[in-house]
Amino acid sequence: MHTKLSEKFGFDVSTISSAYAGYYKDKSSLFACASGGAASALSEKIIEDGGVVIGVCYTDDFKSAVFACAETKEGLIKFRSSKYIYAEKKIYNGKKWVSVFEEVERLLNSGKKVLFIGLGCEVGALIKILEKHNVNRTLLYTIDLICHGPTFPEIQKQYVERLERKFDAKVNSFSVRYKKRGWEPPYIHAEFDNGKVFEELFYHSDFGFAFKKYSRLSCYQCQFKGDMHYSDLTVGDFWGCKKGMDSYNPMGVSIIFCKTDKGQQMMNMLKSHDNFSVFPADVMFALQNNTNYYRRRMQNKEQYQQFEKDLKLHGLHYAVVNNKGYKQYKKGLFKDKVKKLLPENIIKIVKQIKSSF
Ligand SMILES: Cc1cc2nc3c(=O)[nH]c(=O)nc-3n(C[C@H](O)[C@H](O)[C@H](O)COP(=O)(O)OP(=O)(O)OC[C@H]3O[C@@H](n4cnc5c(N)ncnc54)[C@H](O)[C@@H]3O)c2cc1C
Ligand code: SF4
Repeated sequence: MHTKLSEKFGFDVSTISSAYAGYYKDKSSLFACASGGAASALSEKIIEDGGVVIGVCYTDDFKSAVFACAETKEGLIKFRSSKYIYAEKKIYNGKKWVSVFEEVERLLNSGKKVLFIGLGCEVGALIKILEKHNVNRTLLYTIDLICHGPTFPEIQKQYVERLERKFDAKVNSFSVRYKKRGWEPPYIHAEFDNGKVFEELFYHSDFGFAFKKYSRLSCYQCQFKGDMHYSDLTVGDFWGCKKGMDSYNPMGVSIIFCKTDKGQQMMNMLKSHDNFSVFPADVMFALQNNTNYYRRRMQNKEQYQQFEKDLKLHGLHYAVVNNKGYKQYKKGLFKDKVKKLLPENIIKIVKQIKSSF
């Protein structure tokens, strides 16, 4: 069974022991999280258990992202939802900025239980460093996020600054996964000091285009896919989960892949969460609908280089609308929109007709 699946997906599927779907029961928590809120709910359980959580938040000006440590449930709020830029690997320890990996090491050495949540490469780097320094990892719990690859903080900075010029005020709240109409489609939502609000569809924005087209070169060669996720649990969006399925919620559902005994322990903690529903999920179905678990993103070198050059010379908006891939990208968005409006049986028939030619 596992051999067949491993052939199908191109990695050792037996590294996943089980999969679960889940979401917050209360609407306001679910609304604020990226998918179903599994990362936040697990963080709450770790805090209840006397531990601390290391996660990613925006800086106060919303122009970049950094790691931070939360010791209380209130402290977890800033971690909610995805920031689609990579975070600087630094954390403020109350006195100065230090390496986030050194801070986790210090916390573990002081006998603290630590939940570290980050992208696959960040969890991989942490474990490598702790191994090198012979740090006892008994008290370390890890979650990585299924990762398409973030874009650069420069994109966030330019996008926010353009909005601030337009609205003549500072941004005081920002999301790229705002659930205006539910889990999908994601919206950008920004609030300003003068009380004004801005919203646009994420994938129709300059930010959305940059997220799709412009990541670090290492992301196109990602070494943390498939059986190379080093975390106890991997969490993502449960794409493919549709109306009619037990685990469906129109406001978002998390998929959780469990890989280790500690991951199973964490799942038991999550199942005991009063405000979170957990359902068993089919590993094959979940993987089929979430290829970013095991596949790297693709790069169009010419478009990438053009984008990078234009970004430096003329800024984000120019780089997007003048990119050779922009027209095709817009067409793709239109096709997706039409697809979503058509019933599934019609899409199947269209596919059959296409493949018969
Ligand atoms: C750059 C990026 C790309 C992603 N690509 C995919 C994808 O292709 N497919 C998919 O299914 N899911 C992807 N995800 C994960 C998805 O967006 C959700 O983060 C995930 O489903 C968890 O949702 P949640 O509701 O459980 O998290 P929440 O409860 O909302 O908590 C969010 C958690 O994510 C952490 N976080 C937020 N931004 C970052 C960041 N930039 N770097 C590290 N940690 C961060 C926070 O610390 C927090 O713990 C991606 C996430 C990011 C940040
Ligand atoms: S795609 Fe891979 S290398 Fe890039 S941020 Fe995600 S986990 Fe790291």
